[in-house]
Amino acid sequence: MTVTTFDATNHERLSRLGRRVLGGGEITRDEALWLLNLEATADIYDLLAWANRIREHFKGNKVHLCSIVNAKAGGCSENCKFCAQSAFYSTDSPRYGFIDPEPMLAAADEAHRNGAVGFGIVAAWRGLEEGPLLDEVCARFRELKQQGKVRPDASLGIIQNQRVADRLREAGVECYNHNLETSRRFFPKMCSTHTFDDRLQTIRLLKNAGIKICSGGIIGLGETREDRCDLALALREAGADFVPVNMLNPIPGTPFAHNPPIKPLECLQTIACFRFVLPRQEILLAGGRAVNLRDLQSMSFLAGASALMVGNYLTTLNQPVERDLQMIRDLGLDPCWEPHGATEPAPAPVPVLA
Ligand code: SF4
Repeated sequence: MTVTTFDATNHERLSRLGRRVLGGGEITRDEALWLLNLEATADIYDLLAWANRIREHFKGNKVHLCSIVNAKAGGCSENCKFCAQSAFYSTDSPRYGFIDPEPMLAAADEAHRNGAVGFGIVAAWRGLEEGPLLDEVCARFRELKQQGKVRPDASLGIIQNQRVADRLREAGVECYNHNLETSRRFFPKMCSTHTFDDRLQTIRLLKNAGIKICSGGIIGLGETREDRCDLALALREAGADFVPVNMLNPIPGTPFAHNPPIKPLECLQTIACFRFVLPRQEILLAGGRAVNLRDLQSMSFLAGASALMVGNYLTTLNQPVERDLQMIRDLGLDPCWEPHGATEPAPAPVPVLA
C-alpha cells in the first residue's frame, strides 16, 4: 500500500456515498467494491471517518457487548477449513458432548454477574433435527429462561425444517447466530460438507419463526475483496440484524493454518465497507481481532463496528473483559449489554456537511 497525497475526486465520491447512507439510502455493489479497493492510506482514513459518522448516526455512542459459551466442543462432522473444531483436522481443540444443566446454569450465572444480558450457547455440530437432541436443547433453553438471569441466544448450526425453528422459538430463543462465512463463490473452497444455500435456508426458517438473525463471516480465508463485498451484500439481502466480523486466527492442523495475516488497515477497511452496506445493523468485532488488528483494535469502532464479543472465543483466548471495557470507555463510547438491533427505527436523517 502506498501513501499518496489526498485525492479530491475520491474525497468527493466518498462524501456523496456517505451522505446518501446517512440519508437512509443504499450503496450499490459497484460502489461497495470501490470502497474495498481504495488503496491510498489517505483515502482509507477518509473512508473510516465516514463509516464512523454512519455508526454514530445509526448506533449512537453505545458499544453492544456479547458473550458465548461453548456448549458442545470439537468433533464436528463438517469440514470448514478454518475451524479447530472440525473432526477432519487434528487440532488442540477440547472435545465434549452437550453440556449438562448444572454447568450451563453456572455459566449463565457467571455471565449475569459480569453484567451480560445476551448469552450465546454455541454447539460444534452440523445442526439440529427433530429428535432427542432437540428435546434436550429446548429443555436447556427453558431452564435458562426460568432461571431468568440472561437472555439465551443460540448458535446451533443448520436447520432444515420449519418445525425445528418454531420449537426453538417456543423454548425461548430470541436470536440465533448462523454465519454465511464468505461469498457464495468462495464458499466451496472453504467447506464441502454443506453449502451456502444450506446456510441461507437456515436463516430463512429462523426468520419465519420470528427469531432475530446474527450472521456475518470471516475474512482472511484467501478470499478476494470482491468476495468480501458479496458477503456484505448477501447479509443485507438475508436481513441479518447482527453482523459478526471474524478475522482468521490460523489454527495449526487446519488447512488454513498457513494463510498470511491480513494487514490491520485492510481489516479496518473491510469493517468500514460493511458499515456502508449495513448501516443500521450491529457490526460485531469478533474472533481473531487481537492477532490481525494488533494495536489498532480500538480503531475498529472508528471504522464502524458497534459491538464487541468479550470473554473467551470458542477455541482461542481473548483479552480480559475489563481491558475491553476500558478500551471502549477510553474512546468516549459507552459499553452496553442491551443491543440496538437493526429492526429498531432509524433516527431521522440529519443534514451533513461535506
Ligand atoms: S465452523 Fe461450525 S460447522 Fe464448520 S466445522 Fe466448525 S463447528 Fe463445524
